[in-house]
Amino acid sequence: MLPTLTDLIRDGGFVCPDCHRKHDIDLKHLHLCRGAVAHLPGEIRRAGGTRVFLLADPNTWAAAGRQAADLLIGAGIPVNACVLADSHPAPNEITLGDAAMHLTPEDDIILGVGGGVINDTAKMIAHVSRRPYVYLPTAPSMDGFASATASMDCRGLKRSLPSAAAVSVIADTEILAAAPTRMIRAGIGDMAAKYISLAEWELGHIVTGEYYCPTIAAMVKDSLTRVMACAKDAVRGDPDAVGTLTEGLILTGLAMRCAGVSRPASGGEHYISHIRDMRSLAYGTPFDLHGIQCGVAVLPVLRLYAALREITPDRAKALAHARAFDYGEHAAAMRRFIGEGAEAMIDLESREGKYNTDKHAARLEIILSRWEEILSVIATLPAAEELAKFYRAIGFPDSPAAIGMDKDEVLASLRFAGDIRDKYVLPRLLWDLGEENLISLL
Ligand SMILES: [Zn+2]
Ligand SMILES: [Zn+2]
Repeated sequence: MLPTLTDLIRDGGFVCPDCHRKHDIDLKHLHLCRGAVAHLPGEIRRAGGTRVFLLADPNTWAAAGRQAADLLIGAGIPVNACVLADSHPAPNEITLGDAAMHLTPEDDIILGVGGGVINDTAKMIAHVSRRPYVYLPTAPSMDGFASATASMDCRGLKRSLPSAAAVSVIADTEILAAAPTRMIRAGIGDMAAKYISLAEWELGHIVTGEYYCPTIAAMVKDSLTRVMACAKDAVRGDPDAVGTLTEGLILTGLAMRCAGVSRPASGGEHYISHIRDMRSLAYGTPFDLHGIQCGVAVLPVLRLYAALREITPDRAKALAHARAFDYGEHAAAMRRFIGEGAEAMIDLESREGKYNTDKHAARLEIILSRWEEILSVIATLPAAEELAKFYRAIGFPDSPAAIGMDKDEVLASLRFAGDIRDKYVLPRLLWDLGEENLISLL
């Protein structure tokens, strides 16, 4: 029997039968049901709050913020409501400054009411002001509900900053089901990304020997299957189906906390999305919701994995490719394509040395000797065409072109996606095999 979300949240966590680590997390109270918002005053009191700083934007204020404030005031808990001026706030200094200017010393607890940007901003406010944080999500659009990091645009760069994590999450499925359909689809896209992230976690374990927990991976996979089965109902706004989606997103976020790495939730497809975000900050190019971009990026990644199943690894070819590789040229091309955000990627390589030929040769021997295992992991992935068909059925963009990514952008993003983090993902496997040309055949 797989552990459940309740097992993860339980006081003291649970000792994992697979990896023998104790999987314990800070989130101790989760209400996930219809009408869950009624638990809000109780959760605020439990967390020691006597005056609430409520952060919302105009849309999320209308969706749930006003209702939350009325409930709290009705229960005798004063509320300092900060409704941002911008209906589509960006997670940057302006939004954080706007919010922080309204915080008073009397506010002793932070309540975020909204989607990803409100959550990230409110978590930052809670972190720097050392106040407990409670989250009332209004859209099931991403898996960062319970994470202890905030994805912020910092001086024009995308950064993942340490933040507070919610002590309570109040996920009211009636509120969540009323979210714009686009945001529900984005949540499904962020879940679809788990096909890749789970396979790449296992591939990374095979090739580099990194930590891997089969129990955590199985929990996420199981949840992914359930979410996909009810995705059509979720898009139609059925609260129970949206509840299953939300549970999947929360569970994945908690899986990252348990594993201590983002492996259960993000792989190469997330880095393609990150690159798009970085380009938009540097060059003002278009971008879309995180979950939409990640879900779309799954498709070319699946096609490349399918292409890998057809090749026969060739030691001489791979070694010659690594010897001929010109990192200076690669780095210059990254700078041009990504802008200033590429500097952190170049800095990472100076510490990591993934393109070092000795390190490559050692990885290559592992890949060659364990190729059958690698193929069996790749065989667990769905076919790109099947997923694209499913996407069409739920009104989700079924190709990069459908969100305005042309072929050159897709190819370049794939080529650089392995440079974003020190994680073994598809572009690294292609490079190790000397099979990067497969990208241009997409
Ligand atoms: Zn484990
Ligand atoms: Zn994500």
